[in-house]
Amino acid sequence: MTTADHDPAGSPRMLHARHRAVLPDWLALYYDEPIEITHGEGRHVWDSEGNRYLDFFGGILTTMTAHALPEVTKAVSEQAQRILHTSSLYLDRPMVELAERIAAVSGIPDARVFFTTSGTEANDTALLLATTHRRSNQIVALRNSYHGRSFSAIGVTGNRSWSPTSLSPLQTLYVHGGVRTRGPFAELDDAAFIEACTEDLTDMLGQAGGDVAALIAEPVQGVGGFTSGPDGLLAAYREVLRERGILWISDEVQTGWGRTGEHFWGWQAHAQAGPPDILTFAKGIGNGMSIGGVVARAEVMNCLAANSISTFGGSPVTMAAGNANLNYLLEHDLQGNARRVGGLLLERLRAAAAGSVIVREVRGRGLMAGVELARPGTGEPWPEAASLVLELARERGLLVGKGGGHSTSSVLRVAPPLTLTVAEAEEGAEILEHALRTADTQLG
Ligand code: PLP
Repeated sequence: MTTADHDPAGSPRMLHARHRAVLPDWLALYYDEPIEITHGEGRHVWDSEGNRYLDFFGGILTTMTAHALPEVTKAVSEQAQRILHTSSLYLDRPMVELAERIAAVSGIPDARVFFTTSGTEANDTALLLATTHRRSNQIVALRNSYHGRSFSAIGVTGNRSWSPTSLSPLQTLYVHGGVRTRGPFAELDDAAFIEACTEDLTDMLGQAGGDVAALIAEPVQGVGGFTSGPDGLLAAYREVLRERGILWISDEVQTGWGRTGEHFWGWQAHAQAGPPDILTFAKGIGNGMSIGGVVARAEVMNCLAANSISTFGGSPVTMAAGNANLNYLLEHDLQGNARRVGGLLLERLRAAAAGSVIVREVRGRGLMAGVELARPGTGEPWPEAASLVLELARERGLLVGKGGGHSTSSVLRVAPPLTLTVAEAEEGAEILEHALRTADTQLG
């Protein structure tokens, strides 16, 4: 029996009406008839009407290992039975343990870790550290970036469609480099692209006059449509920054924990630059529990004179999830799985898209693949096509995300849990292929 049979007033349609009556209009919601997900297992979720879906979005990359992973569920429930929360005013063993592990894998020497409850708050803290350390409120960010929804995170978010108004206290300079195949440098080869972007950054810093605190960048832009500049670009940027004492903040909210396959962190695709000064993380580490955080070397982290805490940051029940999840990830080499299965999936998506008139590009790293849709001929972003493919995929039991594509959501985002199997990759790609073919016919 489904929720709807049991309680018609609780049907998804009714719930949607109640949602609209009480929640903000700008709260993003997928599908013409939004679904209510009630439970999950592995790479699958079920809705309140009993439909089963292969989850290729993992709750926006939050389900890093698997839905209802027994190791995580057990750790959470055991901790919950002991105590849910006190505060980090007292010693918190799970928090210390997770901080030790994250410091060890961060690549940042003499690392200190501060836990928050979201990616936004992590970036807020990173910006607070950088502006305090450098005594400047000027920040460089990439165009097409997304860093969260607080005043300061919005203030470094390059795309106005995700941050329509901002009275940010920060002064932000936007440079190129997040999008390889659009924009003024798209036709250049990688080396020339890096050179042009670096000149752009140098020029921008010259115009800034005075000190700049930091550059904040996602190694692969997430909400921006799983897009990045060539490997090594951020290393070239780093050289320019280092000469001027400017800090580098790597926003790894989507790219951390082996998601990109080849590397544990996104910044490692620019490893010549060494580790960033500040790294932020969130999303996947808690496998759905709200953990965010900042890693920085002690000298940067400790520049705040304040005696401060985050009330819920480091809460033992979330930390228990983080520890169990990270253990599982490392013990089962899920980064390796992301590389292997992600490679196959990308190949399969490229084959699925071949011949489709609405696909402009298929790109990806590890288990982070973007299928950019565009109007044939003009190459203009085509958000309606992305919405249609999303609906068609859902009808056949596949959930994917969308985002980016310049100012509109024209990129299908594929980011399944990192335990994805080859058979599931094949199944999802087949459904997407069918959805693309149907959309081609309906729109063509
Ligand atoms: N940074 C990046 C790269 C993100 O993708 C997001 C969210 O999508 C954030 C920061 C904000 O994280 P949160 O939604 O947890 O506040």
